[in-house]
Amino acid sequence: MSIVANNPALTSWVNVPEKSDFPIQNIPFGIIKVNGESARVASRIGDQAIDIKALFVLGYLENLPFSLADFDSCTLNTMMMKGKEGTRKLRERLSKLFSEGSSDLKGKEHHVDQVLISMDQVEMLMPIDIRDYTDFYSSEQHAFNVGCLFRDPDNALLPNWKHIPVGYHGRASSIIVSGQAIHRPKGQKKPPTADVPVFGQSNLLDFELETVFFTYQGKPLGDTISTEEADDYIFGMALFNDWSARDVQGWEYVPLGPFLGKSFASSVSPWIVTIDALEPFRVSGPSQEDPKILPYLEYSGDKHIDINLDVIIQPETGHENVVGRSNYRHMYWNMNQQLAHHTVNGCNINCGDAMGSGTISGPEVGMYGSMLEISWKGTKPFQMSDGTERKFINDGDTVIMRGYSESDGVRIGFGEVSTKVLPAK
Ligand code: MN
Repeated sequence: MSIVANNPALTSWVNVPEKSDFPIQNIPFGIIKVNGESARVASRIGDQAIDIKALFVLGYLENLPFSLADFDSCTLNTMMMKGKEGTRKLRERLSKLFSEGSSDLKGKEHHVDQVLISMDQVEMLMPIDIRDYTDFYSSEQHAFNVGCLFRDPDNALLPNWKHIPVGYHGRASSIIVSGQAIHRPKGQKKPPTADVPVFGQSNLLDFELETVFFTYQGKPLGDTISTEEADDYIFGMALFNDWSARDVQGWEYVPLGPFLGKSFASSVSPWIVTIDALEPFRVSGPSQEDPKILPYLEYSGDKHIDINLDVIIQPETGHENVVGRSNYRHMYWNMNQQLAHHTVNGCNINCGDAMGSGTISGPEVGMYGSMLEISWKGTKPFQMSDGTERKFINDGDTVIMRGYSESDGVRIGFGEVSTKVLPAK
């Protein structure tokens, strides 16, 4: 597969600051709103949003399988219905239009003024209408750490873990876009020293450092998607903070799993980075020979991706503190395996479904993706630069996640997902 837009030698006539997450090799997709105008489909280069609706109206997207309605929209779903072939052609066209060597749009100031919008004038909206949200649990170190903390270090992984990409169905409608604050959740919990449960605000509010991928329209109910076919059904990825109220979760989760400890919010970054843009950063995954996985989960080629992931706590008055530094390559199960497993029973997949990775923890201390692990269940508080400490998240804290891939001098970034925690209502 040769994707011209990924050529590391490409440069753009649009200024791209050094260390930008959005060089011409990225071309992510999102939904923007500017002043009083209606929401629309956009991309981004450097610190400029690209108004794709305006490009269409001006005639720069001819001979592509899209209509105005695909871009004059408050979600990416309609555009995504054109499938991988459609969005790949669109990304290639955008790459060509904004490449240094192309004179189609370059220099036509009366058109450029309508198409490029400085990011400081842009409001980013929730990019996708998510109807179904599935959360996996696919980082071995995370599953191991949680097993050590709550069960038995000698049998930390449950017997099914290396056979099944474990997952559950989450709540899609409480997924929010970066920048929207949340209130500390309340709920029922049973403190270890109490005989009966109590009701109150969660005192063990936690983040989960995750990525999420979004699907194209899948197959009908009853059909399955193989690991080999999965590439054609995955549109792109974003950063994902899958909030958790550990005290609520700890009391409620037996026997049916996560419920109110999870459903109050999950936060997503606003730019969807396509899998096409991430292809140059593919890496191999772990051996799955011991135990040997079932044939329907086997795959060929490199299906993991090298994505650096940082999670940061910024107190209300204070500097950013990096509390965890992980990488998506540490996953045990990759997206192809997750999608194959999800559909192996005939479960359908729709355009815009969200699939969370599960908390991504790396193999060493300092690479953990939740405060539960970082503070080791509150026994090892994290020392903040302002002299305070954190076991979990305080009111007024903003949790920020950033991520990027880098090789051959090209950095493909995700921007950030940032969420402030307000006091309980
Ligand atoms: Mn999760």
